[in-house]
Amino acid sequence: MLVHQILKSKGDQGVVTVPPGTLVSEAAKLMDEKRIGTLVISSTGDTPDGIFSERDIVREVSRRGVACLNCTVDDVMTRNIVTCSLGDKADAVLATMTEKRFRHMPVVDAGVMVGFISIGDVVKARLTELAMEKNALEGMIMGH
Ligand code: AMP
Repeated sequence: MLVHQILKSKGDQGVVTVPPGTLVSEAAKLMDEKRIGTLVISSTGDTPDGIFSERDIVREVSRRGVACLNCTVDDVMTRNIVTCSLGDKADAVLATMTEKRFRHMPVVDAGVMVGFISIGDVVKARLTELAMEKNALEGMIMGH
């Protein structure tokens, strides 16, 4: 199972981005409306400048209190973004997410963001693949 197959199985949902300068409170509202846990911060719309997750809000509220809601996402986003490619294997993406302790990755092709996957997308795709393999093996054993 490769990253491009996972994106295909999700359907084309695009990547939700906000420009630098967006307030943390505005970002939180958008994440709530879209029911997502992460936003990509991008000045161009298709190249990632940073990534901003619900975890970043929790950390900043804990450290600075609710005043952080009036900060911009630029102050709290993660700038060293780990991305994956369309041809990467799902298992490798899962291993990276587990090792580095995050749950989201922009998919980048030729320097441009072409999709976004979460740990939930990868686990769902792997479970579907494992169920198909199980059915195929059972079919072979039963002689179908
Ligand atoms: P998450 O578990 O994805 O909600 O994020 C946990 C932490 O990792 C937050 O500080 C995020 O800003 C950061 N983070 C999330 N995804 C990535 C990524 N692909 N590359 C680098 N940092 C990330």
